[in-house]
Amino acid sequence: MTANECLFCKIVVGDVPADILYKDDEVLAFRDINPQAPIHILVIPKQHLDSLASVADENRNLMGHIMLTAKEIARDEGLSHSGYRTVINVGADGGQTVHHLHLHLLGGRALRWPPG
Ligand code: 5GP
Ligand code: ZN
Repeated sequence: MTANECLFCKIVVGDVPADILYKDDEVLAFRDINPQAPIHILVIPKQHLDSLASVADENRNLMGHIMLTAKEIARDEGLSHSGYRTVINVGADGGQTVHHLHLHLLGGRALRWPPG
């Protein structure tokens, strides 16, 4: 998939609207259109990476940045005390449907384990 066919790349450049909570030079965070919990936010790299399986050593800092962004948004959303979950779905068995790397931040209810 090329970047101009990718839904999340379109959100990055503003061609598809999204409820954006945070952005900087490297990452973007926006609310999931089909939330699975009262708070469901996606944190993505601005650069197109297909999935976690495509991440290389040169993306080490970027991956840390994505995780820390999720933690800060969780805090801003008031989830630090109640807790929350971060998930990266990878490939078919992982349930990945959008092939631009994204981290789900889910909170606001007690989440079951194991996931389905
Ligand atoms: P995946 O299943 O690939 O891990 O997660 C993709 C997520 O993207 C899903 O939770 C889905 O609801 C969300 N999503 C799909 N299309 C859009 C969209 O156009 N806007 C937003 N904000 N989220 C989307
Ligand atoms: Zn993309």
